[in-house]
Amino acid sequence: MQVINLRLHRKKYLLNKKSLRYFITKTENNLPLNIDEMADAIDKEVWTEIDCLSCANCCKTMSPTYTFQDMKRIAAHLNMKIKDFKAKWLYFDKRENDWMNVKRPCQFLDKKTNMCSIYEVRPADCSGFPHLTKKPMKDYIYIHNQNIEYCPATYKWVEKLKERILLQKVMINSIDQAEKIIYDK
Ligand code: SF4
Ligand code: SF4
Repeated sequence: MQVINLRLHRKKYLLNKKSLRYFITKTENNLPLNIDEMADAIDKEVWTEIDCLSCANCCKTMSPTYTFQDMKRIAAHLNMKIKDFKAKWLYFDKRENDWMNVKRPCQFLDKKTNMCSIYEVRPADCSGFPHLTKKPMKDYIYIHNQNIEYCPATYKWVEKLKERILLQKVMINSIDQAEKIIYDK
């Protein structure tokens, strides 16, 4: 399991962001048929390599979105009224049409341990983040364009996806070439 070095991640991101973003945009309209299975397999690999507790960069730099159910559940957990919970920590982002945190890092992040103090009742957006297996992938791959900047797991997942898709293309081309040689003879 890899301990995350966020400074190194930032350097790698700045060096490779153009090519990875180009890959995501190009691939979005030309995904392999087995993309959902591929996404699941790479997701499993990534989580054997990444230790989120050494990172917590999502909780430090981004805000989750809060649904009404999230607010209801978390407010009840904190023994608060929903309106007081909202007034204390959230604002409504008109552009995104979502409730978000006022503060970054998130008020529920324990900065010493990188643990979430409301883990059992955290927003659905947090429990699903970084959405590496969301289906169908063709409708969600664009979100990684933003997340590769902040999330080392997403960065690794996109790198691995790029390698696999390129390898698949090389193999298909080699088979095509071989068939041409055999049948043109
Ligand atoms: S609620 Fe918990 S998991 Fe979600 S951003 Fe805050 S600290 Fe992180
Ligand atoms: S989900 Fe990504 S950004 Fe969040 S802690 Fe894990 S590796 Fe870091």
